[in-house]
Amino acid sequence: MSKTDLRGLSREQVRSLVLDLGEPAFRGDQVFEWVFAKRVSGFDRMSNVPKSFASHVERVAEIGRLEIQSERKSSEGTTKYLFALRDGQAVESVLIPHRYGMSVCVSSQAGCRMACRFCASAEGGFVRNLTASEITSQVLEIQALLDVHDVRVSRVDFMGTGEPLDNYENVLQAMKVLSDPGGLGIGARKITVSTCGIVPGILRLAGEGMQVTLSVSLHAPDNALRDMIMPVNKRYPLEELLPACDEYAKRTGRRVTYEYVLLLGFNDTAEHARKLSRLLRGRLAHVNLIPLNPVAGGGFERSSQQAVTAFSRELGKAGVAQTVRREMGARVDAACGQLRRRHVDAGRRQVGKRPDQGTEPG
Ligand code: SAH
Repeated sequence: MSKTDLRGLSREQVRSLVLDLGEPAFRGDQVFEWVFAKRVSGFDRMSNVPKSFASHVERVAEIGRLEIQSERKSSEGTTKYLFALRDGQAVESVLIPHRYGMSVCVSSQAGCRMACRFCASAEGGFVRNLTASEITSQVLEIQALLDVHDVRVSRVDFMGTGEPLDNYENVLQAMKVLSDPGGLGIGARKITVSTCGIVPGILRLAGEGMQVTLSVSLHAPDNALRDMIMPVNKRYPLEELLPACDEYAKRTGRRVTYEYVLLLGFNDTAEHARKLSRLLRGRLAHVNLIPLNPVAGGGFERSSQQAVTAFSRELGKAGVAQTVRREMGARVDAACGQLRRRHVDAGRRQVGKRPDQGTEPG
């Protein structure tokens, strides 16, 4: 029988695991803290619990690990980590330094089934959902590296590979674990879930009573354009998506972020900007303009700096709150699953298949 992975369990679940073993509940709290606050990798390190208790727990539970397969620092100070999973899959996470602290961008799935045309994660298709432990472990492994410098991860963004609301249960579970104040202590308000627009997931999340920040990948101001780049729009078109976002804002009191990646000549004209303003008028909204990371291919090119400025000016005139992500911004890099792509491609080459003939330069 496989052991339960403690890194995927909430405090209550660790407590009941311990109770089921006939041990007192407070020992569960101690284990939880050893795993998530003191971040030990072995039961032998839990110095305030009796040895007999530790070995009892170890018979049924383990502390999962993710192995760092590769690591790449960018000139902007971000570090991308490629983690190896037990079944040979790999997932990517990115550590991003900000003025206010460190954020980690995590993946929620190996691959993705949403097939957005401009996104690198779409190219290899969907492999599987990550477990809650595989999600929290991305943060734990990075935090463990930072512990040496006494630095804390203060935000987590679900903006890596995968569609978090397509792996709802495990993502929710991971958020509960991450936000426990006695563990990693990353409060719900410091967690962002980015979605391509899975309406039932948005509504469900609105009812969880967690003040998680919702970020919606909009990328087009009307259904016709959105249909062309995001297949999910055919299932959940704008007239369903936007009211769901409004509901989210109403129930959580949190402003929704709309991501808008500027694609040269496709969605980046002043007219598109005016349309977008009309769409968001009166909504509790903030727009994030993102320069395309062209590595993903998909036949699109990044908009010119002038187009970005003009687009932003149009939104400004209409009073839409917005930010323009800095050129090659860290989260843009993070979003694209490039390290994972490389890993997948290398795997393909190893088994003697032809590497992808994508449009990816370099
Ligand atoms: N599936 C989720 C989260 C992962 S993508 C979602 O769709 O939101 C995180 C963000 O990166 C999304 O806004 C996504 O649209 C954006 N993104 C994907 N590919 C990109 C690219 N090539 N350049 C810039 N942003 C990209």
